[in-house]
Amino acid sequence: MRPLPLFPVTTVGSWPRSPELLKALGRRRRGHMSAEDFSQIADNEVLAALAAQESAGVDLVTDGEQRRDNFYSFVAEKLDGVQLMSLAEMLDVVEDKEGFGRLLETLDVPAFSICNPTCVGTIRRREPLVLRDYEFLRRHTDRPIKVTLPGPYLLTRAMWVKEVTQAVYPSKEDLAEDVVRILREEAFALRDAGVDFIQFDEPVLTELVFTQGRTRTFMCAALAARKDPAEELEFAVALINRVVEGLGDQWTGVHVCRGNWSQNESTLLRGSYHPLAPYFERMNVRQLVLEYATPRAGRFVAVPNKSIGLGVVNPRIAAVESPAAIVQRVREALRHLPADRIFLNPDCGFGTFANRPMNSAGIAAGKLASLVEAATILRRSAVTLP
Ligand SMILES: [Zn+2]
Repeated sequence: MRPLPLFPVTTVGSWPRSPELLKALGRRRRGHMSAEDFSQIADNEVLAALAAQESAGVDLVTDGEQRRDNFYSFVAEKLDGVQLMSLAEMLDVVEDKEGFGRLLETLDVPAFSICNPTCVGTIRRREPLVLRDYEFLRRHTDRPIKVTLPGPYLLTRAMWVKEVTQAVYPSKEDLAEDVVRILREEAFALRDAGVDFIQFDEPVLTELVFTQGRTRTFMCAALAARKDPAEELEFAVALINRVVEGLGDQWTGVHVCRGNWSQNESTLLRGSYHPLAPYFERMNVRQLVLEYATPRAGRFVAVPNKSIGLGVVNPRIAAVESPAAIVQRVREALRHLPADRIFLNPDCGFGTFANRPMNSAGIAAGKLASLVEAATILRRSAVTLP
């Protein structure tokens, strides 16, 4: 990792898309735009997202996931054996249509806008998932770069849709073998290319512990049958550890939040990370990127030997948090963790789902500027921190 200051400011990955980019994403998805034409538009949008981060003073930048429809569905374009299916298309194939229908009703997301990368054949990396995106960003900035990837547990849960996957992979565990292999190929290629930070997104882990048996999630990942939560969490730990094994001192992180698709906080999951802590502890990554900006996150949970990407601004509200309020949140975390183990970031992305941004780019930039100002205050007072 290139050198970072104390309290490095970063993002969780995604940035709001412009209307032009949304149009291009739609045309590309429907096959009405060539990869080259799309690339040209997306390149410019990535540079705009980068410029917004650089001018706010962000220390560890991302490409804003501008080329993605959402944080995980983009893998369908890069992998053989994976097909994007709309929820409506999935409704055609799932056996329990009634249960699936009830699930859709509880979702606050326009069901037809979400596409799930569904495994329909043997999966292989046709091209890198994000390596080329990283290389593009590297050519345009000297700042340290974070790259985000869907985690192995999320990908396995999302892609294994019994009715169409079972003929190729009899079980989720069988599919996971190939998911791990593909993510390892990607992670090692990124490390060799000099990436500073690799973040794996595993938001669905909270769904295991916070829904208490009720099926309610923002992703169709919940459709794949799951066993008891403890067993699933063990599975998730084993998968991430296999992906990162042998990466040496490469900075890696796991991001876990409680959903980021609605500005209505009451529809989002709620609960402390406490039940996940024993599992976090055994994940062989250097950082946990967690949300702490809302009361839904409950009390702070310190995990030994991990640094934390501390969520201190809420990407879903328009009000821009003041630097003083952010500093206050960080001071609370400092009661449990030393200063050199805290990064500052929003709770989640600003555009997890391309067509459902949580804020405008202007407000997002304001929140980043506030984070940077808070970091400056904290660095100045670092010698006197508790
Ligand atoms: Zn998130």
